[in-house]
Amino acid sequence: MSTKLRSGSACPSCNTGRLVPIVYGLPGLDLRHDAEAGAVALGGCVVRGNDPELQCLGCLERFMRNGDWVLFHER
Ligand SMILES: [Zn+2]
Repeated sequence: MSTKLRSGSACPSCNTGRLVPIVYGLPGLDLRHDAEAGAVALGGCVVRGNDPELQCLGCLERFMRNGDWVLFHER
């Protein structure tokens, strides 16, 4: 997976979904509206340090940057 991913890119996993940034922290009202509109994904309040940055709206896979972009797996 050597593609450079960014918000709005097509998902490299399902090829149909769109990637949106994952926002961490307690969401305010604005952020909740954005999430409902599919502009962002909510990552929750817990930040572990190496968290995924993009989420696919189609298959809900998450991606993180680890030198290259890689599929994020919950551990
Ligand atoms: Zn996808």
